[in-house]
Amino acid sequence: MASQLPAEIGMSIDEIETPALVVDADSLERNMRTLAAYAKAAGTRLRPHAKAHKCPEIAKLQLAHGAVGICCQKVSEAEVFATAGINDILITNEIVDQRKLRRVTELAQLARISLCVDDPWQVYALREATDGKNVEIGVLIEIDVGHHRCGMQPGPLVAKTADLISQSSNLRFSGLQAYHGSAQHFRSVEERKRAIEEATSLVHATKAILAAQNIRCPLVTGAGTGSFPFEIASAAYDEIQPGSYVFMDADYARNEPLANGPSFLQSLLVHATVMSVGVGGQAVLDAGYKALSVDSGYPVLWQRDLSVLGMSDEHTRISRSESAPVQLGERVYLIPGHIDPNVNLHDWYVVVRNRVVEALWPIAAKGPGL
Ligand SMILES: *Cc1c(COP(=O)(O)O)cnc(C)c1O
Repeated sequence: MASQLPAEIGMSIDEIETPALVVDADSLERNMRTLAAYAKAAGTRLRPHAKAHKCPEIAKLQLAHGAVGICCQKVSEAEVFATAGINDILITNEIVDQRKLRRVTELAQLARISLCVDDPWQVYALREATDGKNVEIGVLIEIDVGHHRCGMQPGPLVAKTADLISQSSNLRFSGLQAYHGSAQHFRSVEERKRAIEEATSLVHATKAILAAQNIRCPLVTGAGTGSFPFEIASAAYDEIQPGSYVFMDADYARNEPLANGPSFLQSLLVHATVMSVGVGGQAVLDAGYKALSVDSGYPVLWQRDLSVLGMSDEHTRISRSESAPVQLGERVYLIPGHIDPNVNLHDWYVVVRNRVVEALWPIAAKGPGL
């Protein structure tokens, strides 16, 4: 199915068909420069998470701004980026199914591929998939540093698993994945700082377990947009993985900012049009759940003192009053609640500079994450 293009290059920002995901190119590039400069000054490698944008054009810009490679969450994402020429990809996730592991093995012939394990079982599955193939796959042991999603508990099994990886002919022990996801969204600076201090102490404990067995740990990687200054300050991490920083969202806007810390601009907005004012006290937009994700709450109106009253599949109702009037046909701009699932609903980014459409970028790695 050919997807309808929401805009044409050269068009004014006001002519973009709605609902549309619109990226401000200057703000996007500024966000990339801000993080790249911060990581560089600290001497930390930057490997942005591409699950936030799912777009090879953006990944290439990140590499041009000093990233060493990218992270993906799913094999289907890694396939899109590797095919587009991104040659260093870390899948920050566990992959268990043999068919998917065969796809990873194929990809490893195209690009430098690493992935995570948190159980020796996954190492055996990887051995089976790569057996007899001329490939080398980097394997990181994911440890649970407080997020309690995936991850091995720091302990003797980490050293045994690292040994098992090293003894596998197609596998290379590449280090530790230590990501604290929930810490990204703790509202106060103090809570985020404390969570990463705890994560850091688990990283140090795990490194000590490896060192006691004379196992070299080549790399520790982790961190996201809400916490990376703390991972960097800890000196326990060699590499950071922020993703949302390219666009930002309403959830991140609710975090207390770090004093003198790096700050990022809201570079992406969903454009919608007021399609009805028939009912008193409200205006209705032409974008609903199919254009706006709500897993982190309703989207927030951009630079308008209006609020979202309710949503359905194809409609969003916003407030309207005499002191805050809204006209039929006018444009309204929304800050997504949570950027990653919101992006996944769309097919295209409309890229705008100085209010003129400069490019259309396909969201090529969208989908349920096969
Ligand atoms: C999502 C994710 C990130 C990036 O988090 P942001 O909040 O988007 O910066 C980094 N690492 C892992 C493993 C993730 O799952």
